[in-house]
Amino acid sequence: MFDSYARNIDYLRVSVTNRCNLRCKYCMPEEGIEDLGHDNILSLEEIAHLVRVAARIGIQKVRLTGGEPLVRRNITKLIADIAQIPKINDIAITTNGMLFADMAEELKAAGLTRVNFSLDSLDEDKFKYITSRGNLSEVVRSISKALELGMVPIKINTVVMKGINDDEILDFVELAQKMPLHIRFIEFMPVGDIPFYKADRVVTVSEIRERIEQKYELYKGANVQGNGPAKSYQIRGGMGSVGFISAMSDHFCGECNRIRMTADGKLRSCLFGKQEFNVKLALQNHASDEIIAELFSKAIREKPNRHHMNEGWGADNKRKMYQIGG
Ligand code: SAM
Ligand code: SF4
Repeated sequence: MFDSYARNIDYLRVSVTNRCNLRCKYCMPEEGIEDLGHDNILSLEEIAHLVRVAARIGIQKVRLTGGEPLVRRNITKLIADIAQIPKINDIAITTNGMLFADMAEELKAAGLTRVNFSLDSLDEDKFKYITSRGNLSEVVRSISKALELGMVPIKINTVVMKGINDDEILDFVELAQKMPLHIRFIEFMPVGDIPFYKADRVVTVSEIRERIEQKYELYKGANVQGNGPAKSYQIRGGMGSVGFISAMSDHFCGECNRIRMTADGKLRSCLFGKQEFNVKLALQNHASDEIIAELFSKAIREKPNRHHMNEGWGADNKRKMYQIGG
């Protein structure tokens, strides 16, 4: 379905939980988060039902995110149910990689096609510092497992923060040179009221790119894996690619093809927007599939042409990244 700015919206990102087994400093407070409570989150059956309705109005790709999607019990069953929906041809997850290795085979058998890992440091101690409780070797094991199972393309999301991990930019590029991994450097964003965000911790994508090009030659090649917000490039002589996601300094709204659904059942047509459509309430009121489809269509029709986070929308946004799904 096309929105009012002629963008074809065929991609639904579903946050399946707010909970997470990590506490990345830029995302979640150390003490954890308010529990939404069983009655306030969408059940797995409700999620599958809503995806089925969304497929009727043109959604073809689904990504499960969170919080950490793999901490949601019976996630494999949800993937299997979504895989049965005829018009859905791509089911992906975004994960921190802590639990993926041991679940990978069952996830793939259920119908998971692709996986994005979030990884901000290749140094064990720094990784632990950023995530508060993560274990780098588990994430490495998960990435190896995804490679072994051929779940390509494998993308790695790296949020770059000045003075924290910006000294590792070239190490990540080296990884993409040696392995078929697609590293996407993400600009640090002021989402919600996370106190760790500071403007002087932001490294713009043009600065990241400049640092890379002092050592590596980047070019637009056939092996570049795209269709998302990243501007991606191959590295001369490399197996993978590097991409840049700049929500702030160079927004990518013109190519945005997605809407989002939160774990508590709200449709959001923009990551940084405020408008939400309550599909959980519609289900509680026993709304017909036609009415729910109309809510999806309305969310798409009313999708804004671009976000206005640079003008201050981000800071007063009530929801944090883990409540929307990134
Ligand atoms: N737990 C999963 C993970 O970490 O991959 C999925 C959810 S997480 C909220 C999705 C993505 O949002 C991650 O890649 C994370 O790095 C990114 N993210 C969270 N807070 C961010 C921020 N303030 N700025 C930029 N990216 C952020
Ligand atoms: Fe958890 Fe992902 Fe947020 Fe890190 S970025 S705290 S892994 S939801």
